[in-house]
Amino acid sequence: MKKQILYNKKNKEQLLEKLNEENFQRITCSFYKYLNISNPQALRDSLYSEWNNLKVLGRVYVANEGINAQISLPEFNLEKFKESLFSYSNFKDIIIKSAIQEGLSFIKLTIKVKKEIVAYKIPRNQFDMNKVGKHLNYEEYHKKIEEGAVIIDMRNQYEGEVGHFKNAIIPNVDKSAELLPKVKELLKGRERDTILMYCTGGIRCEKASSYLINHGFKDINQLNGGIIKYAHDIKNNNVESKFIGKNFVFDRRLGENITEDIISNCHQCGNPSNNHIDCENQACHILFIQCGDCAIKYKNCCSKKCKDFIQLPREERKQIFKEGKIKFTAQISNKIKPQLNKLT
Ligand SMILES: [Zn+2]
Ligand SMILES: [Zn+2]
Repeated sequence: MKKQILYNKKNKEQLLEKLNEENFQRITCSFYKYLNISNPQALRDSLYSEWNNLKVLGRVYVANEGINAQISLPEFNLEKFKESLFSYSNFKDIIIKSAIQEGLSFIKLTIKVKKEIVAYKIPRNQFDMNKVGKHLNYEEYHKKIEEGAVIIDMRNQYEGEVGHFKNAIIPNVDKSAELLPKVKELLKGRERDTILMYCTGGIRCEKASSYLINHGFKDINQLNGGIIKYAHDIKNNNVESKFIGKNFVFDRRLGENITEDIISNCHQCGNPSNNHIDCENQACHILFIQCGDCAIKYKNCCSKKCKDFIQLPREERKQIFKEGKIKFTAQISNKIKPQLNKLT
């Protein structure tokens, strides 16, 4: 029997080259489901071999509590992909949401077994997935907004910075693990009010709503299908968006425009910009907002320090990094924390 391929072994250049050679359309989509998965590793391996054969790319998390997937697949394989997904009896009711704006979203397929599909890191006894917030469609959501409900953004601050619902509370956190205690604190005293939550695709609100209900909140509502479904629905029904700006996404596109408004500023010069970028210096790799002019000036880096560093010869960079002579820390905004990656 031929040995199954279960992991990507190609490097970034090889992957991009392969993508460039493709002569078909890809579509980007996402889905999730909370359910009990008793053997995530076995499921992971089986999904990988099936989906790799269908040329699926993307990032998929499988955990005891469910599945979360953001993927790109050839348009001609969409039906086959659905057949594969729905062949798992527990996945039959999964709703696949397509992207708002297409673009190069993923270059490889990774499927990881995780502890949680959303890493809130809250104890198991603080939520019950059988008790989640009411799911509202865009019309119901708009109606409650007009009635004066409290709107809360259930994403990280850097996501809300480029796009959010008008008048929404945007918690100043950059890690999922900090979000729920912060939200509880922000909503203190409003346990009896109508709360409207939203996130990118709905997955984060599912668990977060359960947590808030568990902490005594009486009227918790969530935007069904998140910003992604909302954007499709208001467009199809010709309704004005109450979400302004860009929907941040966790793939190479880094965002989809929901409205043309630019509500954020370049972190380097302060001019209007909603262009998120990962610092070109792999040892820094901080996520920040940079306008076109600053991108040229700083060669896609977050600072002069990073720009100078990437222009050094590779061996010198490696040496400096190894000796720990330079520490790359956030130099733009103290709200944004650097993610230290290995120097490649
Ligand atoms: Zn700028
Ligand atoms: Zn940097």
